[in-house]
Amino acid sequence: MSRARRTGRRGRPPVTDGALLLRRTPYGESSLVVHVLTRSSGRVELIAKGAHRPKSRFCGVLDWFDTLSLEWTPSRTPGELGTLRTGQLMRRRRGPTRDLGAYRAAQTMIELVDLATRAGAVEQGTFELLERGLDALDRGATSGAGPAPALVLATFELRLLRVLGLEPALERCAVCGEPAPPPDGAQGRAAFSTQAGGRLCPKHAAELHAQGVRVGTLPVDVLERAAELAGGRKSGEKRADPERLLDFAARFLDHHLESRPRSHAHFLAAPDRNRRGAAPTAPPRARPR
Ligand SMILES: [Zn+2]
Repeated sequence: MSRARRTGRRGRPPVTDGALLLRRTPYGESSLVVHVLTRSSGRVELIAKGAHRPKSRFCGVLDWFDTLSLEWTPSRTPGELGTLRTGQLMRRRRGPTRDLGAYRAAQTMIELVDLATRAGAVEQGTFELLERGLDALDRGATSGAGPAPALVLATFELRLLRVLGLEPALERCAVCGEPAPPPDGAQGRAAFSTQAGGRLCPKHAAELHAQGVRVGTLPVDVLERAAELAGGRKSGEKRADPERLLDFAARFLDHHLESRPRSHAHFLAAPDRNRRGAAPTAPPRARPR
């Protein structure tokens, strides 16, 4: 084969982009297959040849939670792996490896983004959202201050729902958009249906229930705090503890992704803290995890 022909066949120019690791699988004797979410090129699947060799140029680069800058040659055939050429570390995040709660939260964020982008389509804002979430966990684990991992994760999940266009109705009725006060006798709890898209006014709760749609109730303070976090609004007072927010966000997200990430199981091992009759405030951090 002539040199010109070979160059022609390999003619796709290399791409350089920021990336976060979603999956990493050993391949053959010494290579790695990595799935990454990139800043502007969507989800990309690459082979890092010889990554496991002692003198590999990828040594120490392809680590979890870090922001990378990768250069790769896209595959000629859609669906085939591109070839990673070089990789550089842009931002190391060691925090999550030092704190189990932060580690699990970071792992869950990555698994959720992996699930949400599996089909190939990546909604705008996903990369930035994951990067910010990992930053917050890293800061918290490094400084020992800042919000608990459960709250960081709950906030991430509520914003991911918004990025994916799956945001639940939290303050108004999902059907009519009118205010949705608690129905009679449901002290502090609003009608809510995951299937119907969120909070419901008493009229639509009754109508949907009559049609066989599953309608339950959720504490109003959890829904209000979730709305504040999803919208980036700061609340003056501390209401609705993080575990209950996470229960709510995680169950809603799992329903829509039609899958429960393995790492969510750690957070959802306890019974739903938002079910009727559950203690309004779980003892914080007392539960073994
Ligand atoms: Zn309504």
